[in-house]
Amino acid sequence: MNHLDKLEARSIHLIREAYSEFKNLCMLWSIGKDSTVLLWLARKAFYGHVPFPLVHIDTGFKIPEMIEYRDKLAKEYKLDMIYGQNREALKKKHTFPDGKVTRIQCCKNLKTEALKNTLSGVWPRYRLNHNTGEYEVDKNKEPYIGVIVGARSDEEGSRSKERYFSPRDRNNDWDVGDQPPEFWNQYKTDFAPGTHVRVHPLLDWTELNIWEYIKRENIPTVSLYYNQGDGKRYRSLGCYPCTKPIDSDARTVDEIVEELKTGKLANIAERSGRAQDKEDGGLETLRRDGYM
Ligand code: SF4
Repeated sequence: MNHLDKLEARSIHLIREAYSEFKNLCMLWSIGKDSTVLLWLARKAFYGHVPFPLVHIDTGFKIPEMIEYRDKLAKEYKLDMIYGQNREALKKKHTFPDGKVTRIQCCKNLKTEALKNTLSGVWPRYRLNHNTGEYEVDKNKEPYIGVIVGARSDEEGSRSKERYFSPRDRNNDWDVGDQPPEFWNQYKTDFAPGTHVRVHPLLDWTELNIWEYIKRENIPTVSLYYNQGDGKRYRSLGCYPCTKPIDSDARTVDEIVEELKTGKLANIAERSGRAQDKEDGGLETLRRDGYM
């Protein structure tokens, strides 16, 4: 087995383990490269059919190509596709792009609160009807107890503190100092009622591993990751008012792999184009409160 085979085998094992342990399980799909690799692995784990819903938190400010790509793939792969959204905050314009709140508060409103209330089933969830091709309010309001997430340890400091099976309390809060040990591939999956568990099958993957795997498996990705001729490409995707592309000549997956291997980006944080990470408290504060 080569290194990618080993990463793939461990991730598939973790996804299957999660499926066998949690009755109400879902997978978060941000439309980015990591969670798209995760989706690919889930399809492999269950021979082409993903047996749990894919949940996307739509802030309302995602780059439009991301939403088009989500729906195209959801239809092609026949995914049980669900999205959640903080419609109240969008209606009242309690957002950073509308100039009413800070970036951190906007992320809390549009991401953290939307995620909490979508997972718990308190707010409406919108499910893709494959017959009509439209989203409809989902009748199922049961909370998700297991949530598979495409976080990688090397992406950003707070993610390196995660476990493969990482519990969140009743309020979705993350107690970084009180996480169960995971020795010898033994995972704790049994927690007090009200807890939900984030499952992280990609913790051991690096950015380069992700792109090498995308290349090997020929996984479709959003065109925003590639230089379209203006000498820029997105290294990390998010909301358009807060995410900036990097300078890059890479037009294809091969060229991205080569670019990463040269070390040109080694001293530039992967999420450096994400303005919200630089605000006071940054990503760890958001993540302790329940953010991805
Ligand atoms: S990334 Fe920007 S637009 Fe998106 S939720 Fe955060 S502050 Fe709001």
